[in-house]
Amino acid sequence: MSNFTFSRSEARVREAATIVPGGVNSNFRLGVAPTPLVFERGEGPYLHDIDGNRLIDYYLALGPMILGHSPADVIAAAHGQLDKGLLYGGQSELEYEAAHRVSAMVPCAERVRFAGSGSEAVQLALRLARAVTERLTVIKFEGHYHGWLDSVLWSNGTPFDQVGPEESPTKYRASAGQDPATGENLEVLSWNQEEQIVSRIAKGDVAAVIMEATMCNSGGIFAKPGYLEAVRDACTKHGTILIFDEVITGFRVGPGGAQKRLGVTPDLATFAKAMANGFTVAAVAGRAEIMDQLSSGHIMHGGTYNAQPVAMAAAIATMDRLVQSETFEAMERNGTRLMNGIAEAFAEAGLPATVTGYPQIFTVALGLTEPAENYRGLAKVDRAAYRHFTAALLGNGVRALERGAWFLCTEHTEDVVDETLAAVRKTLADIG
Ligand code: PLP
Repeated sequence: MSNFTFSRSEARVREAATIVPGGVNSNFRLGVAPTPLVFERGEGPYLHDIDGNRLIDYYLALGPMILGHSPADVIAAAHGQLDKGLLYGGQSELEYEAAHRVSAMVPCAERVRFAGSGSEAVQLALRLARAVTERLTVIKFEGHYHGWLDSVLWSNGTPFDQVGPEESPTKYRASAGQDPATGENLEVLSWNQEEQIVSRIAKGDVAAVIMEATMCNSGGIFAKPGYLEAVRDACTKHGTILIFDEVITGFRVGPGGAQKRLGVTPDLATFAKAMANGFTVAAVAGRAEIMDQLSSGHIMHGGTYNAQPVAMAAAIATMDRLVQSETFEAMERNGTRLMNGIAEAFAEAGLPATVTGYPQIFTVALGLTEPAENYRGLAKVDRAAYRHFTAALLGNGVRALERGAWFLCTEHTEDVVDETLAAVRKTLADIG
């Protein structure tokens, strides 16, 4: 059945577990079926593993590699900086140039600060919001992921039998060892429930509302028509800072992120992943009035590696490509073809599934007949069956996330998409 085998990866990860816990350096790499993989190199849309397999990659490192694994322009830009020094502990023209690029592309970005990771950018956005509003309460939504830090790792992956009533969702502590006190000033609501959020904001004590403007982590779920606008209006009216976490959608669903594509501008937004195609760059962007509060130093933002020059050079080269209209036109075309092809293949196999999201990041939800409206709507997804499908798909040379998301890059050309769809059909036939 399976053309590819992964025995070397399996053995290597097992052996390495004697030095690196679990053999992996992020828990997201633990749950990979049939085994976490060890890679030798990446090239365009492909990854080559130590078993000698060439895999078409739709993990894209969970989002960053929007230009594929070996974009010549980004690599040349990084090379060009390598000889000029690695870290200055001071400023470079590169970070100012990169900030101008972000500002030109992203509607809310009157000011930009760079950070080391998406989790750190979220930490900065929340700290800023609390400082400028002089309020403590932050609202997040069930199933939205904002990084692995204690303050926001709540109600992410809540078991469906523990979600509680929709009017007052369970505040679910997502990790052992997470300080329960960090949830004290955090409230969790159910997303896409306009009245619930608007009436909560109206109480006038909320510092910030943070959300993925389109849910990408738990499932490809769009806001209902008017929902984002209603939250925007309520925040404006009651002095609450609206934060869009664009760590996935930023520079991926369009050069200006979800906020540009959806036409709703937040006060602050967080970015990482696709903005530097694999180099460690993250950012908070937002309104001058809020961001300029960082200038006096009374709101702390640190980070040894912030705006690292090699990464900044890579970010500039990445953004320069993303701003070209043909970059996104081709991804729209090829991603739409992939989404439609996957939906057809599942339908022909007699398996109910929804395929929802953007051509550049979408989710296959096996077991659903209607798109979900929020996290609760994903309760009927057949996770075990989909995991079985992705494990078998890997055996046919295509690497897609076990939890349903597919990330597209510019190197997933029409031919690569066709090869992928053939593998999807073969896999569905194999697993019958
Ligand atoms: N926010 C969102 C929406 C994310 O998807 C992620 C990571 O997947 C993060 C924040 C955290 O980013 P990082 O993994 O760079 O810390």
